[in-house]
Amino acid sequence: MPKIISIRPHHMLCTEGYKGFNYNKESKLNWTNLISALKEDPTQNVKITLNEDSFCLECQNSATNKGTCDKNFVQNLDKKIKELLNIEDGEIYPFNTLRTKLLNIMTKEKHHGICKDCGWLKWGLCKDTFEK
Ligand code: SF4
Repeated sequence: MPKIISIRPHHMLCTEGYKGFNYNKESKLNWTNLISALKEDPTQNVKITLNEDSFCLECQNSATNKGTCDKNFVQNLDKKIKELLNIEDGEIYPFNTLRTKLLNIMTKEKHHGICKDCGWLKWGLCKDTFEK
């Protein structure tokens, strides 16, 4: 587990709706461990990054792992959530501060609009994340 978990803005949405679906088993284990750690201590600090984060570490799609992650696509999603949450690259926040902010802002309609081109939403795997 990294000393401080880094998170790219759009992963605030993905972690909220995570149901265990992932690209590969190493990445699934990594996501499960990170989400468990954040649930166990939601007050812990996370660092905002606009590049690969702690969740990307074991992803077979990451550029680091010579995968096919669509950099422009994910960076565009990051930009939208960064603006929505009014956060900047390199800032550090308690995870639950960011989560509360997100839950106060996000609706099912906004989520579906922002993520309309993401495969996970198209496959219906996270479409219920912000249903109230
Ligand atoms: S590398 Fe890309 S596909 Fe993999 S977890 Fe990170 S943003 Fe998602």
